[in-house]
Parts: sequence; structure tokens; C-alpha cells
Amino acid sequence: MTTTQTLELLAPLAGVLLPLEQVPDPVFASRMIGDGVCIDPTSQILCAPLAGVISNIQDSGHAVSVTADNGVQVLMHIGLDTVNLAGKGFTRRVKEGQRVEAGQPLIEFDADFVALNARSLLTLMLVVSGEPFALLVPETGLVAVGQSLLCVTAEPGMAADEQEQGEALFSKPVTLPNANGLHARPAAVFAQAAKGFNASICLHKQTQSANAKSLVALMALQTAQGDIVQVSAIGEDAEAAIQMLALLLVEGCGETVAAQVDRPAEVTPVSSASVLRGVCASPGSAFGQVVQVAEPELSITEVGRGEATERAALERALLQATEALQALQTKTGGAQAEIFRAHQELLEDPTLLEQAQAGLAHGKSAALAWKQATVATATLFQGLGSALLAERAVDLADVGQRVLKLILGINDSVWDLPEQAILIAEQLTPSQTASLDTRKVLGFVTVGGGATSHVAILARALGLPAICGVPAQVLHLAKGKQVLLDADKGELRLEPDLAEIEHFEASRQQQVLRRQREVEQAQRAAITRDGHHVEVSANVASLQEVEQALSLGGEGVGLLRSEFLYLDRNRAPSPAEQAATYCAIARALGGERNLVVRTLDVGGDKPLGYVPMERETNPFLGLRGIRLCLERPELLREQFRAILGSAGLARLHIMLPMVSLLSELRLARKMLEEEAQALGLKELPKLGIMIEVPSAALMADVFAPHVDFFSIGTNDLTQYTLAMDRDHPRLASQADSFHPAVLRLIATTVKAAHAHGKWVGVCGALASEALAIPMLVGLGVDELSVSVPLIPTIKATVRELDLADCQLIARQVLDLEDAAQVREALRRYPAVAVETPLVVEN
Ligand code: PEP
Ligand code: MG
Repeated sequence: MTTTQTLELLAPLAGVLLPLEQVPDPVFASRMIGDGVCIDPTSQILCAPLAGVISNIQDSGHAVSVTADNGVQVLMHIGLDTVNLAGKGFTRRVKEGQRVEAGQPLIEFDADFVALNARSLLTLMLVVSGEPFALLVPETGLVAVGQSLLCVTAEPGMAADEQEQGEALFSKPVTLPNANGLHARPAAVFAQAAKGFNASICLHKQTQSANAKSLVALMALQTAQGDIVQVSAIGEDAEAAIQMLALLLVEGCGETVAAQVDRPAEVTPVSSASVLRGVCASPGSAFGQVVQVAEPELSITEVGRGEATERAALERALLQATEALQALQTKTGGAQAEIFRAHQELLEDPTLLEQAQAGLAHGKSAALAWKQATVATATLFQGLGSALLAERAVDLADVGQRVLKLILGINDSVWDLPEQAILIAEQLTPSQTASLDTRKVLGFVTVGGGATSHVAILARALGLPAICGVPAQVLHLAKGKQVLLDADKGELRLEPDLAEIEHFEASRQQQVLRRQREVEQAQRAAITRDGHHVEVSANVASLQEVEQALSLGGEGVGLLRSEFLYLDRNRAPSPAEQAATYCAIARALGGERNLVVRTLDVGGDKPLGYVPMERETNPFLGLRGIRLCLERPELLREQFRAILGSAGLARLHIMLPMVSLLSELRLARKMLEEEAQALGLKELPKLGIMIEVPSAALMADVFAPHVDFFSIGTNDLTQYTLAMDRDHPRLASQADSFHPAVLRLIATTVKAAHAHGKWVGVCGALASEALAIPMLVGLGVDELSVSVPLIPTIKATVRELDLADCQLIARQVLDLEDAAQVREALRRYPAVAVETPLVVEN
């Protein structure tokens, strides 16, 4: 049994403490090297933060590591890019292997010289052995040298890497191209990549060797440009490891290096691990060539050229960024334009601007002041515990980078891409995604990102297959390599064989032809072969989507997600603005078509910028949808008034989300009646509820007399019935709306509604799956409200069906055991033999 020990680390310098995120260097800020703290120093002697052995001190004197007896390893790195000073300005006071006491001086440095000749004086203290720690002081503020700073929790032996037994495989020798050898930054990239393999891996330089998964061991090799090194590995993935890591060395481990002349012929990129897996961000598949896209490293000076000059530089860049975002809105339109409008709003955020101004007032350059302000705000977003806000942090990083490049005068022109490109990136920004040339780009793969991010929404709007959350080794695939991206399965196939490629091409051809046919016939009604009409309408979030839906044969709007109209606003839209939006949408539809406006469904994963909410432990089970609106009745009343303004322009329906209690419906109806009366309306619009909580489905017979219609939200109904988070990447395959438990609730709802003469729609993503259509029609669903691009497909599917067969299959599936059995039974139904991929709702 291991016993946990704690170890206090002392401040190695006096100075101002800063969170790591504020370090203007992505490798440190992203904690790739390790977690810890950053100090802006006011003293000039770096002291040992703990007792131990000097496990490495760089010849250039800018970095030192101390290892405690219990294995905790701490790296201190003085300044940024100080490796380039080649030892000037640093005096080492200790040697490698020497034992030191806590507080003992390790390195003296000339702060003025370093500040003038390197990028920054910011000094890092990082726990590179990976143990967790707690801060013993506030996150920012002054610290004195020797003051207790961190409390590290160490388990002896925890860091020990189990060594594999067996015969080692060796790579060909590689000549190191990095100007300063494997110093902290490239060493961290190399160690990180090595950690992706199970094999025991070493890096060899002449007679010395180092554990490739240990940053400090790699730094202790003291490599220099031109050194000849070799990678060895033992274990089942040894071959893949040496191939990938040798290639990484040749390519400079993340640093820009001169073109290689000695690229070892046999070093090819990862090949034996032939499939890389991630999460589907946008469905579809593509066969094409790898194109790696990396962001250029930005060099930021710390000290400004005078407050007025820097302020003017920031203001100019902000103005240029606003103009560029405006142009993007005009170019994209619809939901995509909304994203860039939200970016524009972020640029006007007072807190962000105040922070940047404060930086300028402290003499910082415009670039640093802006960068620190955006990083601090993004960190705040990430820390609020909401997946959606965390994804907005990506938007902030995007818009932040846009301004930063403008300040630095970097031309962010569109990438020059080859044909048939499958882009590979650490992360794409929404701006980059929206500017992709879809004639050349067939799809993309990212290490970061999430299925609900704006990048995913944009990819779906562009019809580009995409996967995210793929292991970082994808970043080392060779340019031009032919790969098969199967986004539906969340897979990137690195070695597709001829048969796979042929199969892929053939089914793509078929899909293209089928799609053409469906679009040509999209205006025909969705009537089964035996004459049963099913209304196929659209799920929309903007006027532009309504117009698109009509052109694709949508018979109305079955779900207007009103919260998406203003999701990224910091300020509430005025009542007049809201009313104008609803009127424009209703007018586009006209008096003969249904418009179902769902009242604000905020809370849960959808916070609304201008509706401040308290943090909740279980937001999906908290104040969401109608619950929140009833807590803030003015919000709901104002929305009712705005919606009622469009009465008469379309067949207006109002729908309440997340209803679980009859009292909620009663309260909301009363408010609606009062508002309608105050406006002098003689006739109330139709009022319905979403059925997306099991209680509402089970009590549908009780709700039915009080509503005009039901619309079943299978996304939430599945999540709440199966108790599986709808956005959980590991539960994605099990949180399946085809589960018989969900289907039984649909059956219950339809039966109750029809008994009271009310209609039932399905507006969750299940209605957008062709495979589900016979079953939904057979269960008696009257309306299918689907994702806009799928309207032609769903209508075509209905036209292939016979109601009597559908009723038979619906009865059968209700008695099956699980979702897989249901899918299997439906696949045997002839009209849906070819399954159409699900378009995830945005
Ligand atoms: C649903 O839950 O199925 C639904 C349509 O609502 P949303 O996806 O907007 O939560
Ligand atoms: Mg829902």
C-alpha cells in the first residue's frame, strides 16, 4: 500500500504571481510541460523550491530541475525563449547531481539583460512529474522568495514507469534539427507524444539515454543542433512508436526547422495503428489527402512603446476585426452569421476591454495586454462548469487571435490548400471553419473541440464530415498521406485498402444520386403509398433557415428554437427587435403554414448571456426551460407579447419546453391569456408542450385536455429516460433514441393525444433519421419536424411506406429488448434498407 505524502514548494523568486494561462506561450499556457505557477520576478536569484537533487541544469543556465526523494520533480524555467541567450546573463550556482536544500540559490540572472534580450522575464515553476497540488496563496499577487507557494500531494512510486521487458527496436539515427536541441519546449512535445504509446521508450545520444516520457530526463541529455539521436522502444506498439517519434524528431518537435536533408527513408508516419478514433462532429465520409494546418507562433513583446501608441494600435485592430466580422456575416448568413455576430459582441464586451485597458495602463504592449485579457476571460468561461460556455471560450480564443494578428500586422490570409484535402489541426477556429473552401476541403479532424461546438455547427452547415477529440498523434501524420475519414463512425482510417476505398466511392456515388432525386421531388407531399399524409416540417433557428426549409419542401416550422435567436448576446434584444424577428419568420411562412415557436429553453447546457443564472450542480436537472421562465415571469411575458405580434401572419403555435408538471402549463397558459387580452387579441394562438420529460409522457392523458398539440423532444426524452447525458462522448452510442423505453413513451403520448383529438409531432433528432420513420409513422406520429437539409430525404422515405406495414413494425419494436435490436428490425424493413446518416441537431 502506498502512503500519500505532502510536500511544500517555496517561491523560488520574489515577484508577482500569475496564472499559467496568462503566459504568452502556448506550450507553457496549455500545461503541456506541466502544471504549476508563473512569477513575474522582482528578484534575481532563483532558489530551490524544495530539497532534492539537481536532476538537470541546462548548460545555458536558463532552466533547472530538482527531484525530491519521493520522486516529485520540479522544473524552473527563467524567462521565455531564453534558450536563445546561450548562457549570457545566467550564472549557475549548482551542478547536475548535486544535493540542494530548499531555499538554496541555484541560478543568478541579470534581469535587465534578460528583459532586454529575450521575449519575457516571466519565470515558470512546474511540477513536471504530474502530482496534483494546491495553491497556498491567492492565484495572483505579490509573493516573497521562500514563501510557501504550493502543497504537492505525492504518492511514492506513483510516477514510476513500468518498464516493458523484451527486445528493443531502434529507429534509424536522426540528426536533430532544432537550433537549441531538445530544450524545454520541443522536449515537452516529444515526451507528450511518447506518452501516447504503451511501449517503454528511450532516446539515445551517444552513450547516454533518457526515458522518452520524462521531460526532465530528455532535457538532461543536453542535446544540441546536429546531435545524432536514436529512439528505441520495447512493447507491443514499439514499431509504431519509433516510427512516429523518429519522424517527430526529424520535423522539429513542434519547432519550425529548416527542411530536412537526412529524412530517414524508412521512417514513415504512424502506420501500424491504422485507425484513429474521435467523436463525430459532422456526419459523412471522405477519402482524401492529409493536410496539416498549424497556427503560426506569434512573437509578442511584453513592454509597450508608450500607452498612447499601444492604445491606438489596439483600437485600430479592434476596428479592423469588427469590419472583417461584419464581412463574414454578410458572406455566410443564417446560423453561421449569428456566430460571427456573437464574435463581434465579444469584441464589445466591457469586462474584456477594461482588462485590456488596465494592461495598457501598466505599460504593456497592446498585444500582451489584449492576449492576457482574452486568456483571463476564456479561463473564466471554462471555469463556470458549463459545456456550452467552455465552448464559447473557443470563440473568444478565435476572436482574440484575430485581433492579436491584426495588432502584430500578420496577414491571416486563407490557406493555400491542395485538392481533396482532409485538414488535420489541433483545433480549428469558427472563422477558419467558415472560410474553408469546400471545393478543396473534403473534411477535417481535430484534436480539440466538441460535438456541440460552433465549429461542429459550421461543419454541419457546410456539409463537411468532421471528427474531433482525436489523439494528438494525428498531428504527426505525413502531408499528402491518403486517408479515409468516416465521420459517422468517428474514425480516421490511416491505411484504407483498395476494397474499402472502392466500397466508399460506390456508396458515395449512390448517395449523391439519391440526394439529387430527393431534392428534385422535395415539393411533393409526404403521403404513404396507401394514402396517409404525414406533415414534414423544419427545425429552425433563424429566418434564413426558414427560407431554406421552404425551398427544400418544408411544409412549415415544427420547432423554432427561440433561444438560439439570441443565444450569444450579452444584452437582451428589445421587445421590438424580438417582435420583428417573429413577424419576419411568420411572414416568410404565410397564413397557410404552421409556425411553432418554442419559448426560451435556456438553462441546462444552454445558458443565455443576458439572463444571469446561478451555477447549478446538475444544470440538466435544474432551472431549465419553462421552470426558469416561470421563475422570471417578466421574461416569459415579454416573449409572449413579442410572439403574439406575429399572430395572423402564419398559423401560430406556441410551445413550452421542459414541462414536467401540469401546474407549469396552467401558469403559463394564464400568463399567455392575460397578455393576449392586454393586446386585444380575440383568438389565442394554439398552445402546446414539448414532451421531453418522462413525467409528461407518462401523464400525457392528463395533459392532453389542456393542450392543442404535443411535440416530442426525443433528445431530452432519451437523456432523461435512460439517465444518460445527451452530450456525454462515452455514452453517445448507448443514449440511443431507438431504445424501446423511449419508444414506449412515444406510443403512450400518441395514444393519449389522439384520444383527445390532439396532434403529435416529433421534433427531436429521431425524426431526422430515415431508419426511424416507418416506426414513428406506425406509432401514429402526425408530424415530423426535422433538420432542414434532411427534409427531402424524410419526405422521400415517407412516400415509400405503407401505413399498415408501419403499424406492424411499430408494434414489434415496442417488445424488443434494446436499441440495437430495434435498429436491426428496422434495417430489415425494405424502404429503409440503406440507412441515411443522422444529421445531429444544432
Ligand atoms: C429535444 O430535446 O429533443 C428537442 C427538440 O429540444 P432541444 O434539442 O432543443 O433540447
Ligand atoms: Mg429539449
